[in-house]
Amino acid sequence: MQLTPAQMGMSLLLYGSLPMMPYDSRAEGIARGRQHLILTTRQDFGYNPLAWHDYLVETNAGGYKWGNGHRSYAKAIESVLADHDWQQAVAVAESESLLEELTERDARRRHEAQQADLYWSGKSRRCPKCNTEFKSVQDRGQCTKCAHVFYASHVGSAK
Ligand SMILES: [Zn+2]
Repeated sequence: MQLTPAQMGMSLLLYGSLPMMPYDSRAEGIARGRQHLILTTRQDFGYNPLAWHDYLVETNAGGYKWGNGHRSYAKAIESVLADHDWQQAVAVAESESLLEELTERDARRRHEAQQADLYWSGKSRRCPKCNTEFKSVQDRGQCTKCAHVFYASHVGSAK
C-alpha cells in the first residue's frame, strides 16, 4: 500500500491503524493520524475529518490527491462519522489528551536517543556477531566488517 503523508494521516484518523503502523488502541491511532496531519500541514482541525478533508482537497497538502486517493476518503469519512466505535475512540483521545501525551512521549524518546548517542560516541565496542572492535559514532551502529546493526548500549565493552 503506497500512501502519501497526508493520505497516511487521514487513514490513521479514520481507521486508527495501518498494516505497517499498528497501535495499542484505535484512540491512539486516531491521535497519531491527527499528529501526522498537523506535522504535514502545520494546521490543526482536531478530530474533524470533514474539515481536514476539505482543507486537504483544496490545498493538496502532503500529496492528499495523489493517485486520486482523496476520492475514497469522502465515503470513508461519512461512514466513520456514523460509526459508534469511532466516536467512542475519538472521545477517549479527547478526554485523555492523547495528542499532547504522544507528542510529549516523542520528545522524551528523542531526548533519550540523543543522550545515548552523546554517551556512546567514541567508546570502543565489539560487534556481538563477529567480534570486530570499533569505536561507536553513536548509540545505534553498524559493524564495518559484517554489517550487523546493533546498539552500543546493548553490548559489553571491548576490554
Ligand atoms: Zn561484525
